[in-house]
Amino acid sequence: MLHINDHYLKLSAGYLFPEIARRVSAFAQENPALAPRILRCGIGDVTEPLPQACIDAMHRAVDDLATRERFRGYGPPTGHDFLRRAIAEGDFRSRGIQVSDDEIFVSDGSKPDASAFLEILGTGNRIAITDPVYPVYCDTNVMQGNTGAALEGGGYAGITYLPCTPENAFDPAPPSDPADVVYLCSPNNPTGATLSRHSLERWVDWANAHRALICFDAAYEAFVRHPDVPRSIFEIQGARTCAVEFRSFSKSGGFTGVRCGYTVVPADLHGVARDGTRVPLHRLWSRRWATCSNGVSWPVQCAAAALYSGEGRAQSRALTDFYLGNAAVLRAACERLGLAVYGGIDAPYVWVRCPAGLSSWDAFDLLLREAQVVITPGAGFGRCGEGFLRISAFNSRTNVEEVARRLSALTARHAGAHA
Ligand SMILES: *Cc1c(COP(=O)(O)O)cnc(C)c1O
Repeated sequence: MLHINDHYLKLSAGYLFPEIARRVSAFAQENPALAPRILRCGIGDVTEPLPQACIDAMHRAVDDLATRERFRGYGPPTGHDFLRRAIAEGDFRSRGIQVSDDEIFVSDGSKPDASAFLEILGTGNRIAITDPVYPVYCDTNVMQGNTGAALEGGGYAGITYLPCTPENAFDPAPPSDPADVVYLCSPNNPTGATLSRHSLERWVDWANAHRALICFDAAYEAFVRHPDVPRSIFEIQGARTCAVEFRSFSKSGGFTGVRCGYTVVPADLHGVARDGTRVPLHRLWSRRWATCSNGVSWPVQCAAAALYSGEGRAQSRALTDFYLGNAAVLRAACERLGLAVYGGIDAPYVWVRCPAGLSSWDAFDLLLREAQVVITPGAGFGRCGEGFLRISAFNSRTNVEEVARRLSALTARHAGAHA
């Protein structure tokens, strides 16, 4: 008899994006004249083409595959040396951070890495996540059996939730409950908040004291402009014994469809086996890649390496500057509405308190109905997201400016109605 992984049955329905799609299509059907006006600021997918340096490198790599002399078959499962070196040098050593080439594990992205990493950890680790949160950290642990059942009103039994609200500046203290794995994301999706050096120091001290692991998601580090905001957990003294870092070219290089990222696993990081021996996670993660994967394709690794050329750097910088410019326009528009606005400074997401005490979904409906603008209801990211909206800066400038105009018109209309 075939058994399934019963933990999958605990997952609450993937409700957020399907529900957004359902409401948008219902609105479009009932209001065919307004349907073409709908502007989407909901999904966190990039909109702009790849940097030219990546396109050129990819074209050359495809041509390699067309010749017997330069043909490439299987590569090393954890990435070609030239790419691991470019990453370790470009993202870390050149910034004074000690990371060696063989601590870089190239992959097809951070979402698969965050999920696969649980394969080398024991089951039954106690998990702490922030609320609101990128749902992947939570759901992968549910699938792995690290939680209890879904709770009425959201969340899962057995997970420690760390509320992130304006009251604590989206900077939660380490939990007093025991936890073995904590997920931190800075700059944050969905709140757009960043964690300060001081707060990361506190997390690293806590993790080392409790022999816990920090899974640090730095998918948005390329958006950091303020020099005092850490871009890597490994800027913090002591992080090499308690942290891994997930990085992705999805947002920094527009690679959401190309698929490439990497995980940093320091050689000094250990977990404990059932018999009490300390085992380096680096050894297990290397073995996991060698056994389960044949790595990332040649054209994709060549495209990723091109991001570290002089040209590539400038173009990727221009790309993130562009999205940050969008974020500034969106922030300003929301501020003009008199709303409390967070994030959107070193991050491509603007996190906005809903007007007039509306719930997230009521505000979603209002913006769709009155302005034909689609945003993401904060409640979709966790209980503490209720009462907030996430507006994505991944859009064309034309669309962003139009969204800003419609938001202003909305206030004017409402102000008119009150007059
Ligand atoms: C977009 C995003 C990623 C990147 O995922 P990929 O699988 O590399 O595309 C990782 N973490 C967060 C929080 C994200 O929003």
